[in-house]
Amino acid sequence: MITSARNEAGPDATQARIYSRSEHNISRSQISENALKVLYKLQKEGFKAYLVGGCVRDLLLGREPKDFDVVTNADPEQIKKVFRNCRLIGRRFRLAHVHFGREVIEVATFRGAGEEKNDKQVLNKEGRLLRDNVYGTIEEDVWRRDFTVNALYYDIKDFSVVDYVSGMADHKAATLRLIGDPETRFREDPVRMLRAVRFAVKLSFNLHPDCEKAMHKAAELLFSIPPARLYDEALKLFMSGCALQTFEMLRHYGLFQVLFPATEKCLSVEDNGFPRLLLIKALDNSDTRIAEGKTVTAYFLFAAMLWESVQMRAKEKIALGTVEFIAYQDAANEVISMQIKSTALPRHITMAMREVWSLQPKFNARIGSKPSRLLTHPRFRAGYDFLLLRAETGGADPELAQWWGKYQNANENEQRKMTQPSRKAQGSKSGRKRNYRGYVKGSPTGKEV
Ligand code: ATP
Ligand code: MG
Repeated sequence: MITSARNEAGPDATQARIYSRSEHNISRSQISENALKVLYKLQKEGFKAYLVGGCVRDLLLGREPKDFDVVTNADPEQIKKVFRNCRLIGRRFRLAHVHFGREVIEVATFRGAGEEKNDKQVLNKEGRLLRDNVYGTIEEDVWRRDFTVNALYYDIKDFSVVDYVSGMADHKAATLRLIGDPETRFREDPVRMLRAVRFAVKLSFNLHPDCEKAMHKAAELLFSIPPARLYDEALKLFMSGCALQTFEMLRHYGLFQVLFPATEKCLSVEDNGFPRLLLIKALDNSDTRIAEGKTVTAYFLFAAMLWESVQMRAKEKIALGTVEFIAYQDAANEVISMQIKSTALPRHITMAMREVWSLQPKFNARIGSKPSRLLTHPRFRAGYDFLLLRAETGGADPELAQWWGKYQNANENEQRKMTQPSRKAQGSKSGRKRNYRGYVKGSPTGKEV
């Protein structure tokens, strides 16, 4: 049976509370000029036009929104007629993208209410929403949204904020509350659990106790979500600048295991806290980089997420007699094949991950021409950063990482000297092989000799 939030709970849809311009802090100077152009143009053509969703929520907090979403009573074809620079996208639910150079303003038509009698809305047997393509009114649109703080409408007509679901009160109380019955809403779309974590962390809001209670019970519903969608969500979760806190919270609610089952397994058999360290450090570094305005790459993060799992498998294979290099390659293949069943990693990402991993043993060769060749490898920087991460968390010899740090910055002469065979290095060349960690095999301490 279709259950809309409206039927389950919540105030009467006709009872919107209107916050006039003097009762809120959203100023037009904070709104993108292009979003304002879209809003004004729709209004001029006789349509209703509002900002909605994350941008209103973020503007109320005085934050710069990631993007501006517009909602209107114009249908997609009508929107297309209003804007020359407009493309319609989506099959299930048609949306308009209005292009201004690199900025895209998304314009959606109000969604319908999804009443029981509505045959255009389809749920599967678990109650998940499969098709939802009915246009409606603002009073109907509000109930399709997830959290009350995401369901506030900024009206371009008089610069007021329209609130049907007590979103302003929840916003003030820093509470994330689902519209309607949490269990039903999570069943309709389990990705809302991941969104709950993302927003709680990003905004420093608390989950409403009812939402939290439902989440503890509903984690496994996420297993039914297509891996491509989970990949998109994983990127939003871990590339947002709060990856470490997000990771902790996902684990708390049992959601991390859905995104990274192999990693979760490694974490539960941690060895003196070691396996978790690399991942935690990687997430922490990534947050620091974002805070400093630097870029982070998805493949590096995924390589770090899955490294312990690759290592665990490789060690098992080595113990059974597989050559180290082959063992790591096979382990990487297996781990990636399993991971794409959870989050569908694009090919360019898996290729880059493999490269970062396969560079790791190559850092052990410090004699002759190999180091200078390695420096020209397109993935050298990422490989070296990964080596640093391993060295910082007990997974590689810190001296090896230092050596590479020095080697990169040395002039040609110094580099030549550094790569000449010394007696010590010859020792390792003549049979004293280094293992994957860069430690010399067979030494009593496992350390450099
Ligand atoms: P962000 O700042 O990350 O963009 P956002 O709230 O704008 O956050 P979007 O994914 O851009 O998130 O979605 C825009 C709006 O669409 C949301 O604020 C919410 O009202 C609605 N929405 C998005 N995804 C869902 C969903 N899975 N279920 C219900 N409503 C949703
Ligand atoms: Mg958004």
